[in-house]
Amino acid sequence: MELPEFRQQAHKMVDWMADYLENIEQLPVMPQVQPGQIRSQIPALAPQAPEAFEQIFADFEQQILPGITHWQHPAFFGYFPANSSPPSVLAEMLTATLAAQCMSWLTSPAATELEQRMMEWLRDLLDLPTAWSGVIQDTASTATFCALLTARERATAWQSNRTGLQGQPRFTVYCSSEAHSSIEKGVRMAGLGSDNLRKIGVDDRFSLQVAALAEQIQADRLAGFEPLCVVAAFGTTGSTAIDPLEAIAALCQREGLWLHIDAAFAGSALILPEIRALAKGLDLADSFVFNPHKWLLTNFDCSAYYVKDPQALLNTFAMTPEYLKTDQDDQVYNYRDWGPQLGRRFRALKLWFVLRSYGAEGLRQIIRRHLSWARQLAAMISEQPDFELLAPVDFNTLCFRYVPTGVDSKEALDQLNETLLQTLNMSGSLFMTHTRLNGVYVLRWVLGQTRLNWEQVMKAWQIVQTTAHGL
Ligand SMILES: *Cc1c(COP(=O)(O)O)cnc(C)c1O
Repeated sequence: MELPEFRQQAHKMVDWMADYLENIEQLPVMPQVQPGQIRSQIPALAPQAPEAFEQIFADFEQQILPGITHWQHPAFFGYFPANSSPPSVLAEMLTATLAAQCMSWLTSPAATELEQRMMEWLRDLLDLPTAWSGVIQDTASTATFCALLTARERATAWQSNRTGLQGQPRFTVYCSSEAHSSIEKGVRMAGLGSDNLRKIGVDDRFSLQVAALAEQIQADRLAGFEPLCVVAAFGTTGSTAIDPLEAIAALCQREGLWLHIDAAFAGSALILPEIRALAKGLDLADSFVFNPHKWLLTNFDCSAYYVKDPQALLNTFAMTPEYLKTDQDDQVYNYRDWGPQLGRRFRALKLWFVLRSYGAEGLRQIIRRHLSWARQLAAMISEQPDFELLAPVDFNTLCFRYVPTGVDSKEALDQLNETLLQTLNMSGSLFMTHTRLNGVYVLRWVLGQTRLNWEQVMKAWQIVQTTAHGL
């Protein structure tokens, strides 16, 4: 493609992008496609001859779009959002155009230095300790993996990267039974073995029970294990439960364990001063992760990873082969040494665009609205005798189910609610997901979309009730 055509197509495409976002509510949130359906429309072989851009774009609209789940639809209430915003999309266009590889300071000085500044901005906006250093990772899964590896390296006097884990103590890692699966995955990848991950029980708010954690640590020591790390949640994925960070931090300090805090989703809410009381003890962590790509209007991927001791992270990840050496190495950050990846995207740019376009006040307003709508909706659900909430609503996630009179067995209620979820999602007018809390099947309703408004919440609540009553 020559540049005159690029210019012309790009203008058309920006119009398409604005139209898409303007009219997104007319699309079904979740497509009704069967497995294999989209792939079967794509030719089995790559084209030999060039094709016209018009044709490619027409096929995007006709073959791809019908198979897209519209994550930016205001009625996308599933999982956690991966919300974006116009300034973030525009910054992504620039990032794609510059197409810089931001592995070292020298490979794009502005990318490294803007990333440093953006991590400082976010740190201060969330009121994290000023001594912490930040780096953008692709996902929270990677950040948690980094934390586990760093804890492992520190506990082996920085030897296990070189020697492997043979002859090392049998390390154990702790999290709650509600912790995200990325913790177990990280434990596996770090060579620690998921048999050595202890999933500690939770209380009736789905928060980790510290007494049980302390007991398990003692039992493990007696049995010859070496407790290594606790991963505490600020906002679990199931129900946004908050582990008792202060008590966990005190225990970790007494026992000499690494404390990593997974705030992947709810961390963004720390931009609100009134939320910080929920995070007491957070400043005692060794590492902390939250995802601006979930609730802070910044396109996936963008995960902010903070560490108390950047040298420990560097000791774990730094590799400097001859071909990557630069004259500035002793004066600059080379972010390739702060995680597993060598090549890195210029992700700080979209954060800069978002933080400046909305300002802290604009972002606070959006998150505050989500929280207040969630509280209002929670009150409405509780008032209905045939619906119930199954977890506290500390943030914007509601775990609820339909409990009509006459249906009493757990199995029947699980089945009914599974059918309710399927029916709602098939309708195309909204999208939710589910989880199990104490074995009970619950629907999860997350109010976190950039362009959500109260009318849409009420419309969805009507649909939920009508659908449930029609089952
Ligand atoms: C979403 C989520 C994760 C995983 O996030 P990725 O960035 O997709 O790896 C981890 N922990 C919690 C609590 C989450 O909600």
